[in-house]
Amino acid sequence: MYPAIPFNKPYFSGNETRYIEQAVRSGKISGDGLFTQRVHSFFEQELGFQKVLLTTSCTDALEMAALLLDIQPGDEVLMPSFTFVSTANAFVLRGAKVVFADSTALNPNIDAAALESLVTPRTRAIVPVHYAGIACDMDAIQVVADRHGLMVIEDAAHAIDSCYRGRPLGSLGALAAFSFHETKNIISGEGGMLAVNNPRFGPRAEIIREKGTTRSAFYRGEIDKYGWVDLGSSFLPSDIIAAYLWAQLENLADIQRQRRTIWQRYYVAFAPLLRQGVGLPVLPDYATNNGHLFYLVCRSLPERTALIACLKQQGIWAVFHYLPLHKSTYYAAQHDGRALPWAELYADHLVRLPLFYELTEADQHRIIEAVLKFYQTY
Ligand SMILES: *Cc1c(COP(=O)(O)O)cnc(C)c1O
Repeated sequence: MYPAIPFNKPYFSGNETRYIEQAVRSGKISGDGLFTQRVHSFFEQELGFQKVLLTTSCTDALEMAALLLDIQPGDEVLMPSFTFVSTANAFVLRGAKVVFADSTALNPNIDAAALESLVTPRTRAIVPVHYAGIACDMDAIQVVADRHGLMVIEDAAHAIDSCYRGRPLGSLGALAAFSFHETKNIISGEGGMLAVNNPRFGPRAEIIREKGTTRSAFYRGEIDKYGWVDLGSSFLPSDIIAAYLWAQLENLADIQRQRRTIWQRYYVAFAPLLRQGVGLPVLPDYATNNGHLFYLVCRSLPERTALIACLKQQGIWAVFHYLPLHKSTYYAAQHDGRALPWAELYADHLVRLPLFYELTEADQHRIIEAVLKFYQTY
């Protein structure tokens, strides 16, 4: 029996602990210290984002977005059902009604063609989620948004270092939320970031992130005392978190190269399964791949259950993903009853395979052989 292959193993460059020690020795470990500034300028100067703010999580970045939009009770927000709860929670916390759209047949991203019919006079925003780091159809989404005066907020939790028509994901909506949770490509344990792409939100984003105060402007010396001017909370992470994150970002190119290599090996090995009707990730011509996750779409729920069990028996941990939010315990009663067949299909049929930096070629070969052998007989 071989040792087990976990589903995920958090990446560690070795410099994380060195930078954390540096942050501690600097004598300032609260928010917006040296490492936070380094991370901010990396995204703004190297990657071309207009303005970014580190947050304690992607969940918090989404909550900031809902506050910035002044979402009011009764407002409606469109988003895919096949997503993580935080995408919805952020707006439900402000009293919004979430209206769920279906995924596309090609991949789990939101079906842009379905949006127009879901817009009402109360609709305020569309929240596309770039599932697996593969871009949503952003031009089609923006057309609907512009026609009805809606804001586009990207849930870019999976989407670091990936593009839509050559533009970085997370730079396309008015606001975007990234995650550095340990299951993502670039990590800090827990952590996230708000990208402020529409400059009109910039000043207020800083205020909301600092408990509704003007403390950020005060620290820059722009005002001589700071006070409470707006709603807000404590959304900024300790500089210890930013120090960890900085060590990861220094290795961004290497991490991404390795993840894409693993992804590509899976894709090539499993391409023959397409003939059997097993689904693989589909990248539209406008999208790039950031190797965030690799999945298969089984032909039935029993098939997926059998595949996961078969792999587990060989010490390989494969997992399914989201349960559709329109059928969740918390929100099902508030859903309008529309069937969302693709979201339900991905919830029942999609399985994710191990994909992490340290996955060796030998272990990946073991996974590939196990899956192919399963499909010889199933
Ligand atoms: C991981 C994830 C989040 C939440 O990220 P946190 O940083 O854990 O708050 C939100 N949306 C999606 C699509 C995610 O995958």
